[in-house]
Amino acid sequence: MTEEKLSFQAEVSRLLEIVAKSLYSHEEVFLRELISNASDACDRLRYEALTQSELAGDDPYRIILAVDKDARSLSISDNGIGMNRQDMVDNLGTIARSGTLAAMEGLTGDAKKDLALIGQFGVGFYSAFVVADQVEVLSRKAGEPQGWRWISDGKGSFTIGEAEDVPRGTTVKLHLAEGKDEFLQPHRIRHIVKTYSDHIALPIVMADDKGEEETLNRASALWVRSKSDISEEDYKEFYHHVGHAFDDPWLTIHYKVEGVLEYSVLVFVPSTQPFDLFQPERKHHVKLYVRRVFVTDEAQGLVPPYLRFLRGIVDSEDLPLNISREMLQRNPVLAKIRQAVTKRVLSEITAKAKEDPASYEGFWDSFGPLLKEGVYEDADQREALLALLRFQSTEFDGWVTLDDYVGRMKEGQEAIYYITGEDVEALKKSPQLEGFRARGVEVLLLTDPVDEFWVPAVGEVQEKPLRSVTRAGTDLSKVKAQEKDSEDKPEEPPEAANIDQLIAAFKLSLDQEVKDVRTSELLTDSPVCLVADEHDMDMHLERLLKQHGQLRGEASKRVLEVNPRHPLIATLSAMAAGSDDDKDQVRELAFLLLDQARIVEGDPVPDPAAFSRRLNAALQRGLTLAA
Ligand code: ADP
Ligand code: MG
Repeated sequence: MTEEKLSFQAEVSRLLEIVAKSLYSHEEVFLRELISNASDACDRLRYEALTQSELAGDDPYRIILAVDKDARSLSISDNGIGMNRQDMVDNLGTIARSGTLAAMEGLTGDAKKDLALIGQFGVGFYSAFVVADQVEVLSRKAGEPQGWRWISDGKGSFTIGEAEDVPRGTTVKLHLAEGKDEFLQPHRIRHIVKTYSDHIALPIVMADDKGEEETLNRASALWVRSKSDISEEDYKEFYHHVGHAFDDPWLTIHYKVEGVLEYSVLVFVPSTQPFDLFQPERKHHVKLYVRRVFVTDEAQGLVPPYLRFLRGIVDSEDLPLNISREMLQRNPVLAKIRQAVTKRVLSEITAKAKEDPASYEGFWDSFGPLLKEGVYEDADQREALLALLRFQSTEFDGWVTLDDYVGRMKEGQEAIYYITGEDVEALKKSPQLEGFRARGVEVLLLTDPVDEFWVPAVGEVQEKPLRSVTRAGTDLSKVKAQEKDSEDKPEEPPEAANIDQLIAAFKLSLDQEVKDVRTSELLTDSPVCLVADEHDMDMHLERLLKQHGQLRGEASKRVLEVNPRHPLIATLSAMAAGSDDDKDQVRELAFLLLDQARIVEGDPVPDPAAFSRRLNAALQRGLTLAA
């Protein structure tokens, strides 16, 4: 018999250490994890056997727990799909989930938080090493003759070899570590199974050395029980099992639909953000069952991608059991279920947001950007989704809804104003906000990349257009006119004389650099700023697309706006009408002001050497005059 020694993937060794530390005070969860895997394995075989009946025999699916007191071992056996050699290498020596390593960097040392996070990596099987100093896995895959033995002490390597007379399915045998004898006690095992695994739909049977058998759980699908019969703990444990999660659900949605279509839904919204939320696949995590039989966790179209934070199951009475995964996608029943489930989930989230706004903010923190994807993608649910959006704004410290915003709009204000960028603090300092602040007009601060997409797609809310403040053409004159009546408002400095001449001079020197130069009514403190022309792409979006390589070539040209009431602009205006030497200087300084506006915007300065030369020259002149 050939045996082969293989190394764990480096991440696994690291994960094993973390798991051992984090699970220290919850070590009994190893049993729930191994039972959960055994149950998954039976579900998978039951589904495969629908089309290949020769794979499974007649014996009912079940999970057997057996104790050997003399050998100090506990084993968990199932008659599910089993694993061959390659499956063992792939599943019991590596971490398949992409992004795991990056997410591991996010561990905090706070046991509870870390547990929620590592749960998502699929610690599942590895939790066996928290109580065992050696783990042996015997398995034979359904439909294959050869059995395999996998052994490891969890210290960097494992051994795989052929094994004889292995029944179909998998046995995980734990050689308990020193001091873990409690897991040999029937009452302890009974209690753990009741606590964590009662919801498992298969019988979990404890066999003693005399061959006596005792079923420890209720062995029926949780979602078919009546709600009054299910405790919060039951729901939570089912969530842990179905969602491969370790945190508590933030929201549990359980209902049954009867009528033209018949189906049950049991889905959960997690309370912590899954680490793979923003991976490009945007896969959802709701499993499809047909009449209690697991069909697939990859039913595309069962749940829209923007609800990919959901964990749970949908169990249909109408779909044919032997439907291929490919045919599923085009099945109209699935589309109807999706629409109804989406609507229901959003209405439950809306209700929870009303009932407990503080807790909704936690949800928003984790999943807000996904709802924004929904606004973009799901026209049917747009109204419901818009009402769930929360924003930060210039005028208000907490979260703001669109309703709040519209209710606070100033008389004469025509649009809902927003600015997009990478972070709120930087955005608050944008020169484009000066005029809005001076007039007390609120501006929404948008920092999610998806904001660049849903906002233009929606266009308007309650008949008010959404308008970026970094785009030319904003007119606040109607709001301003109103404010001028108030008496404690300081007089604005007059507009510089000769401003037209200055603008003309700027246009001449910056002809190659900008699209246009205009005076601005919206600047108060800054001499200049850049905006996008009315029909051009918003500046932040353009930057974003460039960063992601989605946009190549020349950036579109900006409009330079000039503040006619700024003292520096007033001086320059006078110079623009002055001597030839003054005019030359104005032309040079135009470049300097433009570069400064670029820096404030976070845009690169195209010619830093020229910028520095001009800055030094200007400083030198200033100092000479002062001396
Ligand atoms: P997860 O269950 O979240 O996928 P685990 O670490 O618990 O992660 O298990 C890793 C993988 O090992 C499973 O996805 C499965 O492919 C395989 N596996 C574990 N236990 C069994 C079992 N009893 N029968 C068949 N495959 C198993
Ligand atoms: Mg598992």
